[in-house]
Amino acid sequence: MAEVRTCPVCGGSDFSDLFTTHDHLVTGESFRVAQCCGCGLVVTADPPEEHDIGRYYVSDDYISHSDKKQNLTELSYHLARKFMLGRKFRLVRRATGKSTGTIVDIGSGTGYFASFMQQKGWNVTGVEINDRAREFSAAKFGIRTLTPAGISDLNDASADCVTLWHVLEHLYDPEKWMGEIRRILADDGRCIIALPNIESSDAQWFGENWAALDVPRHLWHFSPDSLLHLAEKHGFACEEIRPLPLDLFYISALSYRNRGRHVALLRGVVTGLFLAVVNLFRSNRASSLIYVISKQKT
Ligand SMILES: [Zn+2]
Repeated sequence: MAEVRTCPVCGGSDFSDLFTTHDHLVTGESFRVAQCCGCGLVVTADPPEEHDIGRYYVSDDYISHSDKKQNLTELSYHLARKFMLGRKFRLVRRATGKSTGTIVDIGSGTGYFASFMQQKGWNVTGVEINDRAREFSAAKFGIRTLTPAGISDLNDASADCVTLWHVLEHLYDPEKWMGEIRRILADDGRCIIALPNIESSDAQWFGENWAALDVPRHLWHFSPDSLLHLAEKHGFACEEIRPLPLDLFYISALSYRNRGRHVALLRGVVTGLFLAVVNLFRSNRASSLIYVISKQKT
């Protein structure tokens, strides 16, 4: 196990423990969740070493990389994904003010979003660490994909849009990535970052069972404040924060499953509806948030 010693947001080295939770998906191992005393960033305090993290992703259940529709929860997820592709496309178009352009999708996984954008006429590059996922997206959709190291081949200021859909929380060196994103983004480009929200109503409701903790795969548990702090440090300004409403239902259902409850999907939908009403007037309490950021003028 490693130990997070330095906060990637503020550089602080004092952390206070919040609780211990488990890897519900793959190993059942326990991990500590702690909070930076300097800026409030919540972190997985004792994550695996980076060279050892691969085995925590080895699961038939890891939906981001699977195409299965075996049970109702997964089927719902896949239907939601289909719906979300259209929303993501429209968000990119609106945020950039462009109907086509160059887009880099970091953490492109099996390539569904990249493929959707390519069909809409965008020039797409996917960046993906998982060899199988990268090969799948290249073979199935003809996506141009790079390994994470390959991002250094992209030209400065060459991307109209950079997207990270639930990816930044997985990256061991978010500072390095924010620097690379700033380098490749065009001066009038937009970076879109979707993240679980540790200050969401469902995070508070489920506590240590909140499925979007997803330890140890999620290393950082951002709030709006901590993400904006990180963005600012790297020369970005925030254009917009939007809720991702559907994640609430999926995360609630998984959280009930983590608690070992039956009819988790039904409970998830009911709790999701309740929390959605609670969130109506507090959009920063949504389960997941999308941040649209741009390069600060220098
Ligand atoms: Zn900090």
